[in-house]
Amino acid sequence: MRLLVVEDDRDLNRQVVSALEEAGYAVDKAFDGEEGAFLGETEPYDCIILDMGLPKADGVSVLSGWRRAQVKTPVIILTARDRWSDKVNGFDAGADDYVTKPFHMEELLARVRALLRRTAGHATSQISAGPVVLDTRSGRVFVDGSPVKLTSHEYRLLSYLMHHTGRVVSRAELTEHLYDQDFDRDSNTIEVFVGRLRKKLAVDLIQTVRGLGYLIDAGAGGKQP
Ligand code: CA
Repeated sequence: MRLLVVEDDRDLNRQVVSALEEAGYAVDKAFDGEEGAFLGETEPYDCIILDMGLPKADGVSVLSGWRRAQVKTPVIILTARDRWSDKVNGFDAGADDYVTKPFHMEELLARVRALLRRTAGHATSQISAGPVVLDTRSGRVFVDGSPVKLTSHEYRLLSYLMHHTGRVVSRAELTEHLYDQDFDRDSNTIEVFVGRLRKKLAVDLIQTVRGLGYLIDAGAGGKQP
């Protein structure tokens, strides 16, 4: 999953970005409204964290701009505690959730997880497919109840595929959603990661759809069609 953080407070921006990276997400960052607006409109993020008070363009106008441009990415707004009107204006502009400053990083992480799984149509923080269970809360993976140790890249890849069971995901899409802007992207690496992941999981879960991409069958899991 790839996220964008738009926050002009450099310290806070850095804290949020590193907490999200530690949680296993690929993260891009912007420090003002214009830069944020541009990235949000041109890059395919899975979730955006947007501060309301920003230089160059405020959060509400950035968000309204995205929604006008049909950007449907879920957005969590960051609002000041004494500005209830920020929340109202933010929701009206198309926000999906909010966190009031100052906040505990754990709360923001939990809201990101909830939003990602709701967007993908999952009701709980555990997503399963056949014998494989992905616990998005702890970031752990189990096969037949036994934990499997994955690298952060392997986890990201599996997490993205399991959030999108029943749909063929192309290599290009994976590349766009698994790496941040600065990463040297090469879609061949996806193939390598899929190979390693299959080996570690040791179950027939990830199918290759020739010429199109990869698929985890919805019927393989607890998610009903
Ligand atoms: Ca601010």
